Amino acid sequence: MIQIRLLILLAIFTNLSLLAQEPMNINPYLNEKGNAYMNRQGKMFLDEINKSLTQYSPQYPMPRERYTALLLLDAVLHDPFAAYRPPVQAFFHKRMESLLHQIENTKVEKGAIIWKLYNMGFIVRTATVTLAFDLVRGNSARSKDFELSDKIMNRFVHQCDALFISHRHSDHIDLGVAQEFIRQGKPVVAPPQVWKDKPIYNQIVHLKREAGIKQKLEIQNGVRKLNVVIFPGHQMSKIENNVSLVFTPEGLSFAHMGDQINENEFMVDYQWIDKVAEQHHVDVLMPPCWTNEIYRIVKGFDPELVIPGHENELGHPIDDRVPFWGDSEYLELTYPQLKNSDYPLLLMTWGESYHYLPKKRK
Ligand SMILES: [Zn+2]
Repeated sequence: MIQIRLLILLAIFTNLSLLAQEPMNINPYLNEKGNAYMNRQGKMFLDEINKSLTQYSPQYPMPRERYTALLLLDAVLHDPFAAYRPPVQAFFHKRMESLLHQIENTKVEKGAIIWKLYNMGFIVRTATVTLAFDLVRGNSARSKDFELSDKIMNRFVHQCDALFISHRHSDHIDLGVAQEFIRQGKPVVAPPQVWKDKPIYNQIVHLKREAGIKQKLEIQNGVRKLNVVIFPGHQMSKIENNVSLVFTPEGLSFAHMGDQINENEFMVDYQWIDKVAEQHHVDVLMPPCWTNEIYRIVKGFDPELVIPGHENELGHPIDDRVPFWGDSEYLELTYPQLKNSDYPLLLMTWGESYHYLPKKRK
C-alpha cells in the first residue's frame, strides 16, 4: 500500500516538474525525446553561429565562414516551429539586448551606423540623428515567448528620433512601438492604410506619397529637420507601401523599401524606381530580400551599398521564409544577378551592426 502511494506521489511530482518546463511537444509530429533533441541541436548550432558571426562581422566580400554561419542559421530558422524553441528565443533576445546596449552607448562621429533588427527593422544613426524603420518586437512570429517586451521596445524608441513605417502588414507595424514614439513626442510616418480605424491614426504623419518632392520632417522637438522623399510604392495590387528616402543633416541618404514588389499592373511603379538615381544620390538601400526584380530595383536606386532585409520571417510558411542563400526559384528572383554584379551587397542578421563610411564623391 505504502509503495503504491509512493508511486502515485512520484508520478504526480514527475508530471508537475514536466509541466514547469517548456511545452512537451513543440512539434506534434515528434515525440518528447525528438523535441528535446531539436532543442539541444538548436542550442549547439546557434552557439556556433554566434561565435562565427562575432568573429566575422558584416562585410563584403563575405568570408566563407560567415556565409556558412548564415546558411546554418537558415537551417535552424526553417524549422516550422523555430519561434517556439527556447534556444531560438534566447538567441534572438540576447542579440537584441546586446544591440540595445550598443545603441545606448554609441556616438557616431563619421558616416552612419546601421543596426539590423527583426525582419525589415533597421536603426540608422549618424552624428546628429537616429532613424528607425519598420521597428517591431517580433509578434508576427506568433509566439509570445519569442517577442521582445514593452520595456525593451521603449528603450529602443528612446534612442530614436523618428519612425518610418512602410505598410500595414503585421511584420512591419507595432502599435505599442508607434504609441511610444508619439508619447515621447517623436514623429511616426506611415501610409494612409496603416491603423486607418484606430484612434492613433490622427497622430500619424502622412507625408505625400510623391516621387518628385522632398518634404521636411521636424524631429528632436523642432531642433532639426529631415528631408524626406516618400515614393508611392506598393506590395502587389492593394497594399500602399511607402518607400522612404531619408536625408540626414550630414547629407547621407537611406532608402527603406518595406515590402515593395512590382507585378502586373504595379509594374507602373518602375516609372519612379528606374529613375531614382537621376534625381538623388542614395547611400544605402534596404530592399526586401524577396522582391522579384531586386537587381532592376538596385540599378534604379544605384546606391553605394545594398543591405537586404526580411530574411527568415518566422511568421511565414517555410517556402516564404526567404533564406540568406537566396532561393532564386522563389518568385523568380533576380538575386543571383545582383550577387554577380559590382554592387556592394551586405548580408546582416538580427542584432548586427555596420559602420558605413561614404566614399569621397567625384
Ligand atoms: Zn513583410
